[in-house]
Amino acid sequence: MSSPNDRVLDAGLPTLRSFVASANDSLGDFPIQNLPFGMVDEQVAVRIGDMVLTLSDALDSGALDLDAIAGGDRDARIEVEIAIVHGENVGDIAVLPALVRSRLRGHLAWLLAEDSPERARIERVLRPVAKCVPCVPFRIGDYTDFYASLHHATNVGSMFRPTNPLLPNWKHIPIGYHGRASSIVPSGTPVVRPHGQTVASDDGPPSFGPAKLIDYELEVGFFVAKGNALGTTIDIKDAWKHIFGFVLVNDWSARDIQKWEYQPLGPFLSKNFGTTVSPWVVTTEALAPFMVPGPARGVDDPQPLPYLTNPADRNIDITLEVFIESAAMRDKGIAPTLVSRGSFRDMFWTPAQMLTHHASNGCNMATGDLLASGTVSGATKDSRGCLLERTWRGAEPIMLGDGTERKFLQDGDEVVMRGYCERPGYPRIGFGECRGVLLAAR
Ligand code: MN
Repeated sequence: MSSPNDRVLDAGLPTLRSFVASANDSLGDFPIQNLPFGMVDEQVAVRIGDMVLTLSDALDSGALDLDAIAGGDRDARIEVEIAIVHGENVGDIAVLPALVRSRLRGHLAWLLAEDSPERARIERVLRPVAKCVPCVPFRIGDYTDFYASLHHATNVGSMFRPTNPLLPNWKHIPIGYHGRASSIVPSGTPVVRPHGQTVASDDGPPSFGPAKLIDYELEVGFFVAKGNALGTTIDIKDAWKHIFGFVLVNDWSARDIQKWEYQPLGPFLSKNFGTTVSPWVVTTEALAPFMVPGPARGVDDPQPLPYLTNPADRNIDITLEVFIESAAMRDKGIAPTLVSRGSFRDMFWTPAQMLTHHASNGCNMATGDLLASGTVSGATKDSRGCLLERTWRGAEPIMLGDGTERKFLQDGDEVVMRGYCERPGYPRIGFGECRGVLLAAR
């Protein structure tokens, strides 16, 4: 008799290949080593190459083996079955014990591997991703946006406060604001240019109308797996265990509204007219080969306070790209223009530090909460993650493939963000796309 262990593979094994041919494309985002989670037709699913496998389809096909996932633990078997049969979003998977989640991933890899004995049954229930509508993967209860890139904070600060770009708190405290969870939309959802109060000079008077300075912000977000109760905290050494996985985030921003409203309590209506997330959550486990030493601090930078210090902490080396495609480019079939390329490894504050800081006052983190990094900018001009920085507030416009210039976004522009991880000896894994068209004000 075979043991359940026979049906669980190490999904991260670099040599593993899938019978789904598109998963073995060396330039693809979704090899068998990735297996990100998302939602399809209101069912929890994993992505493999150009195909999608919902967990309930896998169970109904008879191929999915709950005992293999539970590893002989009877309670775990019941938990997994409930999560798969009754699960409403990826949160129902994220709350499972880490070991069970890892075995689920390993079992899915076994089902999808090149030599899978269940190939025939699984092939019958695979769905082409082209026929699936992108969804927000979790029911996001709360959303927080940080400001964790030193390059971004310094660039933006120097535009507004040339003599004093970085405020005294910045290198000691991960700065953030509470965003609005209900205005988070999946990739592909158009975003409408907002109306708001803006001023022609610094002191006003204001007028109300369509915002003129619409920007994107290239960010990386992460979802909380298991949270903490109100009044308790998350130790920095445990923080990574609370992070289920990562997505790309476009924090659409109206700079002219932001400039007038942000003091003294921070961004408000300049940010909550739409925030786009990529639909596939790349798990922390899949990202493990791409972890790099962190945080990225200089020799002159202050050490973080003890509650934010962990010598074993890590950043993730995720290459991040932004493209813009105007309506004219779409009409003429001109490829989107690459506007920037940077890496998440350049962040000053790590995901663990952001999460630990957020809970450090006893604030409760819940499964499905989304924490985003803030704009990811690097040291070079072409790695600046928003147009405010990329065009230096419009002083250095960028040229698109249709020959037009951009200082900020125009109606009809589509912003496309991509992210991927590469390392010699490992298959590339990626995030797919985070895209959205800016529509004219209504
Ligand atoms: Mn932001």
